[in-house]
Amino acid sequence: MSKSMVSRTWFLVLLGSGLALLLGTSLAWAEAPAATQKAKPSAPAKKPPPPPQAKLLLVSPKPQSSVSGQVTIQVQMEVPTGAAEPKQMFAGLGGPPWIQLERQNELWQGKLDSTLVPNGPQQLRIVTDISRVRAAAPVQVENPLRVWFADMHGHTSYSDGVFFPADAYKYARQTAKLDVFILTDHLESLDDNEWLDAREAAWKANEMGQFTALVGLEWTKEWGHLCIYDPPTYRWPNDPQEFYRALADAKVVAKFNHPGDGAVSHSGLAYSEIGDQAVQLMEVRSPQEELAYRRALRLGWHLAPDGSTDTHQANWGNLRTWTAILAPGLSPRNILDALANRRCYSTQDRNCRVLFTVNGAPMGSILKTPTPKALVRLQIEDPDPNDAIAAVELYEDDRLLETIPANNRQLVWEKSLEPAPGKHYYWLKVLQADKNTIWTAPVWVAIAP
Ligand SMILES: [Zn+2]
Repeated sequence: MSKSMVSRTWFLVLLGSGLALLLGTSLAWAEAPAATQKAKPSAPAKKPPPPPQAKLLLVSPKPQSSVSGQVTIQVQMEVPTGAAEPKQMFAGLGGPPWIQLERQNELWQGKLDSTLVPNGPQQLRIVTDISRVRAAAPVQVENPLRVWFADMHGHTSYSDGVFFPADAYKYARQTAKLDVFILTDHLESLDDNEWLDAREAAWKANEMGQFTALVGLEWTKEWGHLCIYDPPTYRWPNDPQEFYRALADAKVVAKFNHPGDGAVSHSGLAYSEIGDQAVQLMEVRSPQEELAYRRALRLGWHLAPDGSTDTHQANWGNLRTWTAILAPGLSPRNILDALANRRCYSTQDRNCRVLFTVNGAPMGSILKTPTPKALVRLQIEDPDPNDAIAAVELYEDDRLLETIPANNRQLVWEKSLEPAPGKHYYWLKVLQADKNTIWTAPVWVAIAP
């Protein structure tokens, strides 16, 4: 999807509202003299019938159906006599990317890549160059999750790093070959011009389906540091509890940064209900930070581990830890949805793919409906021929439940567990032969009595 198409869509929307405004204004002028004339004591004026209007009928996909991959969109158009005829038509799944449909007689069609929007219920929306001529239908999007490699913590000269945002995004894509990059300068250092430039650099760096760039910030207090993603502003409260509240209200994704062993940083990770709503991620890149992660999980936090670098040099995304994000395709909507739902893991390996599910739900899921069993399934693959997995540790809560032996670059394993009734969480630590470690997000489950 080209940017020009999106801006053209906006232009059409603006044009439509402009016309409506003009029409509204002229009606007001027409009525004004009438008020000065004597009112006729006749019956109330009959409302004129609405002008004839083109009608859209969705032929494919059927409303309520499940869609995946490239979706064929077909729309039948009926234009009654006297009605204006749309000349352009667009389709989108609940928002961007928008595609333009092509017309063949009364049928308009095109192909929409459903992997660029989050899985789940979406409104298929059809709009035209006539603002009132539009249609919508609910569909269910279902695409397999893929693994994307990211760095979501780094700095430029706008705080205590080097160079500028556009340089960082370019390096992350072209040199570090990342799929996703998010710059997070210290918000306390920014002014309005730098904040505008940071956002503009991220918007420009985006390429739908190829590279996702988002803007982030680092909230930097003695209490502890947090990264926030796609925030609407760089002005946030200084008090941690007020900050949590503001994040939750704004529905911004947030992450505990460099927590040490978790005993001191961020008030020793003291559990807070509003904090748990506000924060989804924690940096876990070393055995020490693993202690902080395990402490947070024991305290009741629902967090996924992140392997971002926090670089202050011109080597964005090119150190020795990464975040792997599970999403159907590369788009800002998908990446933000994955992070909000904790679908990620921290990895010291640059390209090892880990899929981990419990009862079919991917890592990061919170399963609230009680079930009698927990079906744990994992699928790991390192594309490098000699990069072997040595073992996988499966944890139930904070306890090592099982060490799964391996000596290959691929592993598929599953087991049905019958845990004690109550709430549990399961997570993995993947150990590679070259000593690289991978930490996954948990799946939280409720086991029926
Ligand atoms: Zn930082």
